[in-house]
Amino acid sequence: MKDFLESKAGRQLAQVTAVALLLLVGCITYEDLLLGLVQSFSAGKAHLIIIVFLVAGLASFAYSALRILDMRNEMLNRRKAFDEADHIATHDHLTKLPNRYAFDRLVLSQLDEKPRQAGEDIGPQTVTVFSIDLDGFKKVNDLLGHQGGDVLLKEVSRRICALAEYECVFRFGGDEFVAVARNLSPEKEELFAQLLIHSVSRPVRIGTLPTEVGASVGYARLPDHGSSLEEVCHRSDVALYEAKSRGHNQYCLFQPEMQEKVSERAKLEGQLRRAIDDGRIEPFYQPLINLRTGDLCGFEALARWNKDGVFVSPQHFIAVAEETGLITTLFEQLLTKACRDAQLWPGPLSLSFNVSPVQMEDRLLASRILHILQQTGLASSRLEIEITENALIGDPDLAAATIEQFHAAGIQVALDDFGTGYSSLAQLARFKFDKIKIDKSFVSNFTHNDKNAKIIDAMLGLSRSLNLKTTVEGIEENAQLAYFLSQGCDIGQGYIFGKAMPQSEAIDFANDRRRALSA
Ligand code: C2E
Ligand code: CA
Ligand code: CA
Repeated sequence: MKDFLESKAGRQLAQVTAVALLLLVGCITYEDLLLGLVQSFSAGKAHLIIIVFLVAGLASFAYSALRILDMRNEMLNRRKAFDEADHIATHDHLTKLPNRYAFDRLVLSQLDEKPRQAGEDIGPQTVTVFSIDLDGFKKVNDLLGHQGGDVLLKEVSRRICALAEYECVFRFGGDEFVAVARNLSPEKEELFAQLLIHSVSRPVRIGTLPTEVGASVGYARLPDHGSSLEEVCHRSDVALYEAKSRGHNQYCLFQPEMQEKVSERAKLEGQLRRAIDDGRIEPFYQPLINLRTGDLCGFEALARWNKDGVFVSPQHFIAVAEETGLITTLFEQLLTKACRDAQLWPGPLSLSFNVSPVQMEDRLLASRILHILQQTGLASSRLEIEITENALIGDPDLAAATIEQFHAAGIQVALDDFGTGYSSLAQLARFKFDKIKIDKSFVSNFTHNDKNAKIIDAMLGLSRSLNLKTTVEGIEENAQLAYFLSQGCDIGQGYIFGKAMPQSEAIDFANDRRRALSA
C-alpha cells in the first residue's frame, strides 16, 4: 500500500480525491447560491446542462479510476519484469545457483555484515570462501555430450548445496563453484573441504552410465587472508590453483607463498607467449645410438628456451604451454623446424619428437603432423612420436585412434618413460607401439640397486617377447652401457653419447660419428 501511495498512480489518486473534496466543500458552502442559480435557470432548461456536467464528471472520475488501476498494474508488471531480469542476471540458468555477479553484488554487501542478535555472543567472526573446480569434467562433456555434462553439473550443485545448507553456494561458470561459510574453525574448514571432495566425487548416474568426476578445493578466510571478501575469494582461487597442480581430489588452504608462485607463473606465461611469437624456442637434438652397431640412428628433439642467457627446463615451460593452450602452436613451430633440420642431417636419420598428454586430446593431432610432414617434405618413416603413459589415460579411445592414424601414415610410435606410470603393462596390451623407452630413473641407480636391475631385466624380456624395440635413456656411465649392451638392448640415449645440442653441432656429431665408425 505504501509503495502504491508513493507511486505516480497513487499521487494522482490523491490529487483527484483532493479536488473532489474541494468541490464538495465548495458546493456545501455555496449551497444557497447554487440552488438560486439552478432555480433561476430552470425555466430555460439549465438543469439539463447541469445533468450533462454531472454525468461528464462521473464519467471522467470513472475513467481516472480505471487509468489509475491500469497504471498500478503496469507498475507491478514492470517491477516483476525487473525482478525477473535481475534474477536472470544474477543466477545461473542451469543449476539455478547465484552466479559470480550475485557474489560480487550481494555477498559483498550482505556477508560483510555480522549477524547481531540481542544478547548474542558474537565472538571472532570469520568468513571462509571455498573455490571448487571439477576434475575431469571435460572428459564427461566429450563422452556424453553437453546434455550429459549438464546433468552432472546439476547433480554436483545439488550435492554442494546439501553440504552448505545454511550457507551460500555460487556457480562461477563452467565447472567452477564457490561456497561461502561463516565462523568455521580451521578443523571444520578442512573437514568441509574433505566433505566437498568426497561428495562431488561419488559416481553420478547419467542415463544408464555411471560417471565420475573429481573435485579440487582451495580455500581462504576473512580476515586472515584478506581484508575483503573479494580479496579472500581471489586468494581461495590461488589456493585452488595450487590444489589442482597437486593432482585430482586435493584441497589446499591459502598460503602467502602460493600467491608468489601464481604471480611468477603469470609472468612466465607472458614471457613464453612472446618467446613463441618471436620463434625463440628451438629444438635441440640428442643422439640415439644403435647399441648393436654403434651407429647413430637418429636424434630426439628436445625443446630449448634460452631466456636471457639461462635455459628454462622444458618440463617447466611445456607444462605452462599445456595449461595455457600454447602447446599446439609451440609444437607446430618446433616440429616444422625439426623436420627441416632433419633433412640437412647426413643420411636418413630418424627424428624422435615428444607429444604432450594434452595434445593427445586433440582430434586433429595426426592431421596436423601429416600437414607438417607434407609441408617440409620429411618422409613419414623417419618420424617417431614419443608418447608418455599419462597421455593415454585421458581419453584412451581417442589415443588409440590417433596412434592408429600415425601407423597408417607410416609414423613410428614409442611409449616414453616406460615403467613410471601406474599401468604400463595395461598400456602395452591396449595400444600398438613400435618401441618402448625405459625411463632414465631405472638406469641412474640400477647398478647399486638390485631391485631396479631386476625390473630392467623384466622390461627388456617383455619387450623382446612382444617384438618391440627398446631404447634405454639416461645412460651416463660405462658400467651402465656395458650392461645394456650385454642385455641386447637396441638403442641407447644419454650423456655418455651426447647431450641435446643445437642443429649445427648435431650435423657435426653425425659426420664425426660416421667418420669414426668407418675408420
Ligand atoms: P623426455 O622425453 O624423457 O626426455 C629425456 C630427458 O632426459 C631430456 O630432458 C634429456 O635431456 C634428459 N637426458 C637425456 N640423457 C640423459 C642422461 O644421461 N642423464 C640425465 N640425467 N638426463 C638425461 P629435458 O630436455 O630436460 O626434457 C625433459 C622433458 O621435457 C622430456 O622428457 C619431455 O617429456 C619434455 N620435453 C622436452 N622437449 C619437449 C617437446 O618439444 N615437446 C614436449 N611435449 N615435451 C618435451
Ligand atoms: Ca622423450
Ligand atoms: Ca623419457
